[in-house]
Amino acid sequence: MEKTTGRDGRARVGTQVVWAGEDKDNWQSATQVPVVHSVAFGYRSIDEWLNIARGEAPGHIYSRNTNPTVVAFEEKVRCLEGAEAATSFSSGMAAISNTLFTLLSPGDRIVSVKDTYGGTNKLFLEFLPRFQIEVTMCETANHQAIESAVVRGCKVLYLESPTNPTIKIIDLARLASVAHRHNVLVIVDNTFATPINQSPHELGADLVVHSATKFLGGHADALGGVICGPMHLVKQVHHFREITGACLDPSAAYLLLRGMKTLNLRVRQQNQSALKIAHFLEAHPLVTKVFYPGLESHENHDIACRQMRGFGGVLSFSLKGGFDSVKAFLPRLRYAHLAANLGAVETVAGPPATTSHVECTPKEREASGIPEALIRYSVGIEDTEDLIDDLSQGLEHLSGQLAEGGSFGDACRGSGFNSLLE
Ligand SMILES: *Cc1c(COP(=O)(O)O)cnc(C)c1O
Repeated sequence: MEKTTGRDGRARVGTQVVWAGEDKDNWQSATQVPVVHSVAFGYRSIDEWLNIARGEAPGHIYSRNTNPTVVAFEEKVRCLEGAEAATSFSSGMAAISNTLFTLLSPGDRIVSVKDTYGGTNKLFLEFLPRFQIEVTMCETANHQAIESAVVRGCKVLYLESPTNPTIKIIDLARLASVAHRHNVLVIVDNTFATPINQSPHELGADLVVHSATKFLGGHADALGGVICGPMHLVKQVHHFREITGACLDPSAAYLLLRGMKTLNLRVRQQNQSALKIAHFLEAHPLVTKVFYPGLESHENHDIACRQMRGFGGVLSFSLKGGFDSVKAFLPRLRYAHLAANLGAVETVAGPPATTSHVECTPKEREASGIPEALIRYSVGIEDTEDLIDDLSQGLEHLSGQLAEGGSFGDACRGSGFNSLLE
């Protein structure tokens, strides 16, 4: 949560991911940020202790409030998002819920879209209304509808772009400018884009939130969340977190810090692969639709070109033959974890019913316009050609199944996976 412009302030992004946040303390000359497991920090001088406790001198008191490893992580994200301050949380959902509960009070209204992350959607439907906070969820890519909901008056406009799982694109600059004319705070979840591909602060966002669990960490081995923005707002949210306690663990902070050093390399590779894979899938007869903002067929390709530097590592596509096709196809993939996360070095795939929208009922998914046979595919850093070959053999298998009149019985993992290990 510190305001500094270190030597990394002006470096390019590939340099920042490596160096930012790493050089603030002298860790007894260690070149790598250590994991500081200490719960508390001790002082022989009561005056020094008091000064630090009052925030008048730098230092740490208790790790629920601040911790050196955690601060290094916050500083790295802060530099990448070009923000004045950042604070972190035990998960992305902790970041989002702490932020909303800090900024909203009974009687306030928040405007958002239908396609927010599943957990965020649950906050809107289940928890905020219990505190008399009114939630208006607009059609995701209907900018006019969002604008008129903002103009009717609200405290917060909460956006996400690209969205989950149909990868819609929202014009952040357009909506932020309307919001600011009406004194509305704009929060953007930048998890899918990452600071490599999109800078919401430059587009007008007041606060940027991340599930660091995904691309930032990149290795699917640590949960974390972070928010970035102006000091006066981040300070309020940080204070709420200090008291309610959803702080980031120093071990997780270390894993996230280490993962982030390759963020630029990973995301550039994922951008390139995802675009090639999207083109491959779009041309395949068994694929009924591909959702990826880098495709010219995407309804908001033009907005994506304006506001993103790369189109991201996540795409989704639907198959001929309904959910049975999904069940036959997915287990054939050799190079994809069938799991609920995304943004990892390994490719991860799954249907929204078990991933982004696991918290939702089938009716809610249908209402969000999620096709039954949709697959979300988060591209890893494997060689692109291997991923395309893998998808290709999976589709070939599906083609055989469909030709046999849809006998979808045998859905075990592709045998090639085992032979690879042997
Ligand atoms: C995963 C995710 C979250 C929630 O993050 P957790 O770290 O799982 O709590 C929020 N927003 C988006 C876009 C996500 O993908």
